[in-house]
Amino acid sequence: MGRIVAVTGTGTGVGKTVLTAALCAALRRRGVDCRALKPVATGVPLGGVGEDAELLRRVSGANGPAVLATFELARSPLAAAAAEGRELDVEALARSTEAAAAGCDLLLVEGVGGLLVPLTRRQTVRDLLRRLDAEVVIAALAGLGTIGHTALTVEAARDAGLRLLGVVLVDVAGEGDPAFVAENAAQIGDQCGVPVLGVLPHLGDAADVDALAGAAGALDLAPLTSPRREVTGEVIDADHRHLWHPFTQTSEWREEAPLVIRSGDGCWLTDEGGRRYLDGISSLWCTVHGHAHPALDRAAREQLGRIAHSTFLGQTHAPGALLAEELTRVAPPGLRRVFYGEAGAAAVEAALRIALLAQRHAGHPERSRFVALGDAYHGDTAGAVSVGRSEPFHTGLDPILFPALTVPSPHLGEEASLRALADLLDRWGSEVAALIVEPRVQAAAGMLTHSDRWLREAAGLARGHGALLIADEVATGFGRTGDLFASAGAGISPDILCLGKGLSGGYLPLSAVLTTEEIFSRFTAPFSAQRTLYYGHTYTGNPVACAVARASLRLFEEEGTLGSARRLAATLERLLEERVAALPGVFEIRRRGVMTGIELRDGAAPFDPALRVGRAVTLAARRHGVVVRPLGEVVVLNPPLSMSDAEAEVLVDAVAAAITEVIARRG
Ligand code: PMP
Repeated sequence: MGRIVAVTGTGTGVGKTVLTAALCAALRRRGVDCRALKPVATGVPLGGVGEDAELLRRVSGANGPAVLATFELARSPLAAAAAEGRELDVEALARSTEAAAAGCDLLLVEGVGGLLVPLTRRQTVRDLLRRLDAEVVIAALAGLGTIGHTALTVEAARDAGLRLLGVVLVDVAGEGDPAFVAENAAQIGDQCGVPVLGVLPHLGDAADVDALAGAAGALDLAPLTSPRREVTGEVIDADHRHLWHPFTQTSEWREEAPLVIRSGDGCWLTDEGGRRYLDGISSLWCTVHGHAHPALDRAAREQLGRIAHSTFLGQTHAPGALLAEELTRVAPPGLRRVFYGEAGAAAVEAALRIALLAQRHAGHPERSRFVALGDAYHGDTAGAVSVGRSEPFHTGLDPILFPALTVPSPHLGEEASLRALADLLDRWGSEVAALIVEPRVQAAAGMLTHSDRWLREAAGLARGHGALLIADEVATGFGRTGDLFASAGAGISPDILCLGKGLSGGYLPLSAVLTTEEIFSRFTAPFSAQRTLYYGHTYTGNPVACAVARASLRLFEEEGTLGSARRLAATLERLLEERVAALPGVFEIRRRGVMTGIELRDGAAPFDPALRVGRAVTLAARRHGVVVRPLGEVVVLNPPLSMSDAEAEVLVDAVAAAITEVIARRG
């Protein structure tokens, strides 16, 4: 695909069209196969393309479309479309623009008004340019007032991660005093740290292609003619030389050409080379409302504008305190206190300490044991591994782990698991501090599911023996199983709830432990009683993360996220049944809400792990444009809750094709 350079302006009437046409004419004269188009034009009479598009068509050598959508009313695209009972489809505009770019070396895309002009209720011109991964040239007036407007536009572009090629001052009125214009240009360059490519002089006849080419000939066109900086190789090189990736087989990693992600929008990721991939695993089960959601971006930026971090030791702040209040409103009943961490594992560590010390402070120091499930996973710090040890992950760590009591996973048989729990509690019950469970889905074990009834009965048994109940909802929380929290959906209210991943909408590291006022009160005593919880991390309760988490909770309300999650779950169920269940190699599909595991086997027998079948499917899926991750031979799908039905279809089809290819290659 050809390179896409957008020409945006600091407002309307700043000479965007003339600049676009002039750049196109000058570049073509230098032998660049350059074309220009306007994605949207308003104020265009029915049946016409408009004067601007006409000019762009002429300078482009009459190749291809010069405008993609036109509206009669001379207003913002949103308002003009609404007046005709229409709505722009930004994704369709992006695809048509990409198709046009495919036919040339460089496509100049003229923005509509400024960067923040609305295209739809949710999307602005900036979102379209971001989606196109366009580089940007800013047209600004040459005269008075231009510094402020240009600086604002530069900031708006940078806020969205757009690459700025430079600013061109346009002498629209023909009144520019050269010394004053030069002073403005120097100030903009200095203040904004962006190259000023020159001044486009006033043109008597802006329709004269020769004059346009001549005028732009005086600009510095090097940023447009020199190749776009491609960093993929550089990044991979630095990565291979210096990085150590988590959960990654390092010799395999060296052989892979890793994905180098540059940006994301909605459910899509874009790599440094401009290729797009559907994010089928929510960037490790955390993205809730999609990437670069405007409300979440805004919340992060606003908080960043105030302060990026201030400690929670001896101080507090609004995002942290208000999020705590809002969380307790939606949490399972009875959970009133919030303790923050950054990683899910940190929440589990805190939960274990809170349970142990809560028992001690209530006069039960003998209650020092934890009951965990077979195949549980609670994170990778030593305490979390002690209650969630898995053979492939944690071999060799025993010297730093404490012994836990283990009950077989309910996935292997719920009655047997309950009987084992009852027997274990009969023997050890008076020494147990807490039972820790992942409600509804043992996620990292391969999306092993169990019934709500099992959960209620297990909780009842533990509590009957005086144990506390810890629900680890780091993976299942925030709508993934169809309810905001799996425990509440299943009809239980734990004493201690661990949250992470989706808490910040999948944006920033934030986790939390919620507990009851009664447990909190056991830690509330005079200093001499030594009840302080000496636990915490430096970035605990980071205000930017908390601000985004608040915005994410609001989106659950405003966008009806749980309804979308349930619809998506039903779509996945149907598609998986129709297109994956009967494929050779597919042994079982396990799913609760959107959390899905597709277990692959060689007939009835597990594949030899050395064959790396799960990994092969993941790599094949990537070639089909989707990102998924294996857990051994279980292919995991866990998409953002905002994924559309059409995107779910792309995801399932790519995974089906990948499984088919890998199994056929083996057979
Ligand atoms: N608990 C559960 C149930 C998890 O699935 C995970 C991570 N997958 C964790 C805890 C650990 O979270 P983190 O990776 O953020 O430490």
